[in-house]
Amino acid sequence: MNSRTEELKKIRDEILTLKESPLYEYRLANKYFPVIGEGNHEAHIIFVGEAPGENEAKTARPFCGRSGKLLNELLVSIDMDRKSVYVTNLVKDRPEGNRDPSPYEITLYGAFLERQIEILRPKIIATLGRHSMKYIFEKYGLGAVLESVSKIHGREFVGQASYGPVTVVALYHPAVALYNGSMKTILLEDFKILQKYK
Ligand code: URA
Repeated sequence: MNSRTEELKKIRDEILTLKESPLYEYRLANKYFPVIGEGNHEAHIIFVGEAPGENEAKTARPFCGRSGKLLNELLVSIDMDRKSVYVTNLVKDRPEGNRDPSPYEITLYGAFLERQIEILRPKIIATLGRHSMKYIFEKYGLGAVLESVSKIHGREFVGQASYGPVTVVALYHPAVALYNGSMKTILLEDFKILQKYK
């Protein structure tokens, strides 16, 4: 096993026993799994969603439900193989009833996301939705350019990671496009900016 895979396994083991999480008991009571992330450990691009939904928590796989189907479609639209990228979430356990994660949960799980980014050293971080956008922009020195996703979606910003510059692209969360064709058109358009990083 290469060292990236080993380091990621350590993160998984820590999250499995993360009793200080307000979502831990809910996970056990529902026989859910934490969703750590999946994909290529040498990926140039990492996609960061918000938190697992029910399908994800039942299977331990990120974006495997309806939002995931749309994410797959968006990747296909730019001829990008999902297996070539890494997909994860800001929060690794499912919040009850798909509520927004609390600031405490974001801080608690965000530290694991940062470790994943340190391990994978992506060139591009594509955020899906406002929570991961805010977290990533603030952590990587882009707080000053942070605005609502409606203002900054589909544009590239260069942030600073410990391992060097990292390009950050804020995208709408695919869930917003499930019942809204015009949002889907925007997402299809925004994804084109990722094409050159294949
Ligand atoms: N929504 C997310 O933000 N992440 C998932 O993994 C699934 C749905």
